[in-house]
Amino acid sequence: MLGLMQDQPLLISSLIDFADKHHGDGEVVSRRVEGDIHRYTWSDVARRSRQVAHALDGMKIGFSDRVATIAWNGYRHLELYFGVSGSGRVLHTINPRLHPEQIAWIVNHAEDQVLCFDMTFLPIIQAVHSKCPIVKQWVAMCDADKLPTDTGIPNLVSYEAWIGSQSISYQWPVFDENTASSMCYTSGTTGNPKAALYSHRSTTLHAYAAALPDVMCISARDAILPVVPMFHVNAWGIPYSAALTGAKLVFPGPGMDGKSVYEMIENEGVTYAAGVPTVWQMLLTYMKPNGLKFSTLKRTVIGGSACPPAMIDAFRDDYGVEVLHAWGMTELSPLGTLCTLKNKHLKLPKEEQMKLLMKQGRAIYGVDMKIVNDAGGEQPHDGKSYGDLLVRGPWVVSSYYKGEGSPLVKDKDGLDWFPTGDVATIDADGFMQITDRSKDVIKSGGEWISSIDIENIAVAHPAVAMAACIGVAHPKWDERPIVAVVKKPDAQVSREELLAFYEGKTAKWQIPDDVVFVDAIPIGATGKMLKTKLREQLKDYKLPTV
Ligand code: AMP
Repeated sequence: MLGLMQDQPLLISSLIDFADKHHGDGEVVSRRVEGDIHRYTWSDVARRSRQVAHALDGMKIGFSDRVATIAWNGYRHLELYFGVSGSGRVLHTINPRLHPEQIAWIVNHAEDQVLCFDMTFLPIIQAVHSKCPIVKQWVAMCDADKLPTDTGIPNLVSYEAWIGSQSISYQWPVFDENTASSMCYTSGTTGNPKAALYSHRSTTLHAYAAALPDVMCISARDAILPVVPMFHVNAWGIPYSAALTGAKLVFPGPGMDGKSVYEMIENEGVTYAAGVPTVWQMLLTYMKPNGLKFSTLKRTVIGGSACPPAMIDAFRDDYGVEVLHAWGMTELSPLGTLCTLKNKHLKLPKEEQMKLLMKQGRAIYGVDMKIVNDAGGEQPHDGKSYGDLLVRGPWVVSSYYKGEGSPLVKDKDGLDWFPTGDVATIDADGFMQITDRSKDVIKSGGEWISSIDIENIAVAHPAVAMAACIGVAHPKWDERPIVAVVKKPDAQVSREELLAFYEGKTAKWQIPDDVVFVDAIPIGATGKMLKTKLREQLKDYKLPTV
């Protein structure tokens, strides 16, 4: 017997319709590329999204055709999120930090028909447009009178001219909720990038889940600053969850430096902000010497790479801001786990709570996870046993766009799991902790060493700005860890001092064998450390003891 409930597809258009109807006066504030602040409401977003849909219809862009963006977090980008997907096309957000050749490859692979870009990225478009024959229309996300005439790009129109004369009423089409809605290519540090292709169903379910109290806890009382880019896994789904809840959205535009982020938080009464650790490091580095405090910020979600405990401490102790450590992946839309305490942990001493809060957190309903050994056997949830982390659920990829074969592995019960490439422990309370990437693990004498632990200790030293731990071949132990360190400007620390700093903080055998001081650690397009490149740079390095 089937239930007798209405069968309505979960569509992204329903999110913007809901926002329009139930919190249409909620604010969306953006720092524009031009430097000024733009302010309008959720109703304005809805109205202009409908105009986007008309513009695409007018160009005969087909159902499921791809429409790309290369843009910062801002209001026009938000309109494209709803206008493109809502009208049945696929929004393809491109990472501008990729090399132009990689961008051209991605545009051609996705077969993008329209590409909308912020004026900051005009040089990229000038470099790639002749290599992207499928793109019919280039749209510069600017006012009509700001469109330069001598760009050399054919079929270029300003965004405002493109949508400006379109009708503001539009009937969103209704279709299967499993229809593709948006896509995002993974960082692609090796080989060609691969795209996760999200659906309306996966995106709306993820938007519900993201807003839950033990997840990102998003409400109509929040003013949210997503510093995490809209070109990186849909800014962790925040634009959708904000439409669903009626939260105020505050977009930083290109301003991700400490000063710009701080000003945006204070000026707009931001209660909640989200981003990768590097952004928050810049913010804290700006605030401390200037003696600044937050007047409204309550929570910050930090994810994308491991959040150093020293950062959690600084936010909590110096600024009274709760840090929610999050783990996810492009392939997971992206949220997998969030770190919030359970009721029974509230009475624990601060140090005990801290041990939990530095973990990546507990699974969200919708993401099932397990850790397995090399033979596929499930590892116990004892907080100590390591294993490859596998996940499954309605917002986890089943395969890649145009991908050959399946990335999934079958377990003994016939269930399909996505191997994350991360190595983790899970404790008895379900707190997952990433200890490494499986391709980036250090195994010394048969025992795992967590490069993240080694890095966290190094960056807790006052003279260290950044640290990356890698394994180096060793004749006896197979591999030993070394740590590459970037010193803070004008700070001094010697190799011996730093190695002594590890004493008592980790097992003796886990202390790195050496410290290598470097000017910079290579960073990938999404702001993460590129260990593969670092290893390449240090390929002639020899351990001092060998
Ligand atoms: P991406 O698909 O580019 O978002 O990268 C996903 C990968 O980033 C994950 O598989 C992890 O290796 C890493 N990652 C994401 N969040 C965290 C976190 N909180 N701690 C450690 N690693 C993380």
